[in-house]
Amino acid sequence: MTTLVVRRDAATEKFFDGTARGELLIRHCTACGAHAAPQFEACPACQEPTAAWVPAAGTATVISWTAIHGRPGDDAPAPQRVVALVELAEGPWLYAALNGLRAGERPWPGMSVNVAFEHPEGGEAIPVFLPAA
Ligand SMILES: [Zn+2]
Repeated sequence: MTTLVVRRDAATEKFFDGTARGELLIRHCTACGAHAAPQFEACPACQEPTAAWVPAAGTATVISWTAIHGRPGDDAPAPQRVVALVELAEGPWLYAALNGLRAGERPWPGMSVNVAFEHPEGGEAIPVFLPAA
């Protein structure tokens, strides 16, 4: 399975400092207390700039998901990657890979998942989700 290599830029620097430590950082509005997904630069609830980063608990539930099928190799079955839209315990929604499914297992809406981190060679650590035990 090929893994996406992600590199940081000025906008993602703090986020990837977090993933390198094993923390999923999200935005926290210091004005109204709402949480927002990492890409929000202004609070979606009150429009104030959301300067603060806080670590998410890392627990989430699946909202929706899709399977991305790769091409089969000579002897190998077609690789499959599942990408899920998850709702973090704090409220924000994120898209991320959903790994750790058993062969033939399908995710379902409301499925409990926990964050984990992949460390692709040459790239930033990226958050993925695994089924909760
Ligand atoms: Zn706010």
